[in-house]
Amino acid sequence: MKTEDKNMPSRRKTRQVRVGNVKIGGGAPVSIQSMLNTPTVDVDACVAQINELTDAGCDLVRLAVPNEASAEAFGTIAKRTGLPLIADIHYSYKLAHMALDAGAKKIRMNPGNMRDFSEIKYLAKRMADAGVPVRVGVNGGSLDPKFDGMDESDALVESALECANVFESCGMKDIVLAIKASDVITMVRANRKAAAACDFPLHLGVTEAGTLRSGLVKSSIGIGMLLGEGIGDTVRVSLSAPPVEEVLAAKTLLRSLGLKKDCAEVVSCPTCARTEIDVEGLASAVERATAHVRLPLKIAVMGCPLNGIGEGKNSDLAIAGGKDKSVILRDGEIVAKVPGKMVLPLFMSMLEDYIADYSKNSPKR
Ligand code: SF4
Repeated sequence: MKTEDKNMPSRRKTRQVRVGNVKIGGGAPVSIQSMLNTPTVDVDACVAQINELTDAGCDLVRLAVPNEASAEAFGTIAKRTGLPLIADIHYSYKLAHMALDAGAKKIRMNPGNMRDFSEIKYLAKRMADAGVPVRVGVNGGSLDPKFDGMDESDALVESALECANVFESCGMKDIVLAIKASDVITMVRANRKAAAACDFPLHLGVTEAGTLRSGLVKSSIGIGMLLGEGIGDTVRVSLSAPPVEEVLAAKTLLRSLGLKKDCAEVVSCPTCARTEIDVEGLASAVERATAHVRLPLKIAVMGCPLNGIGEGKNSDLAIAGGKDKSVILRDGEIVAKVPGKMVLPLFMSMLEDYIADYSKNSPKR
């Protein structure tokens, strides 16, 4: 496998928090989160979506708990998955207690709409006893009006720290901050300030980032800038798109920064007048087929031999398109020349061989 060392700044030092079997902060790998968009009361649909997200590489899943029926369903769902589940709570301490009873491995609480902090002490004691952390999640759109008039990034940080400090004063140490805004620069500034002001792990995300295209761009800038500075311990790429897209995007983002190695990277050329094969179709098919791969695999799909052969030499597996015959390379060596229709099936079988050989030869990890 061809892996490159990317020179990233050292990660910000934070305390470490455990969410089930997933560690956040304290040097742990940056974890990937998403949130279900199925109704929590629809247990089967939720379990199916959790399974899809797990296969795609999601580490943690959040479910909204808007009412008591959802809190009860949460318990049934938790018993049917191995993935740590996070309960998303707004407005109601009672629902937070119910989610805790139902097996939530983390509770997300928004101080902007749970403003009676006197109730935190009961919740904090139960969460500390159960080893369940809290995510104090603030959003630009739901700040307590008492912060009106302040610079938004300052207000976000102050609101998050005020709530986190109340949890801490009640004996809780396992606290993660999520400070989000839909404005990328505000989100970046706020997280830089939070990073300098505390040692809580930070959950990064641009909230209400938009549809696939704009959401990917905004999230990549916001999350990417901070990770590039060593800030950030867990991420969600929020998209108005199926949640699995959030996970695949987060994997690509982390992989691009050298923060994730156990996943496949598919590079493909932008196509031009020299293109001799359906690059977009092939690259998409390869991407779908390798979404579940947990190896540091680099695959190139190139439209012609001009750059295809060279790029293939830097990849584990590569296709270089040709009018009559396309070339397949493995570890930089040409291993097959096949006509167009044969490329994808042959490539897929070579991919399976490659993964099997790697698994056989790699030391147990
Ligand atoms: Fe064009 Fe070939 Fe480059 Fe693809 S690899 S952009 S087809 S020159």
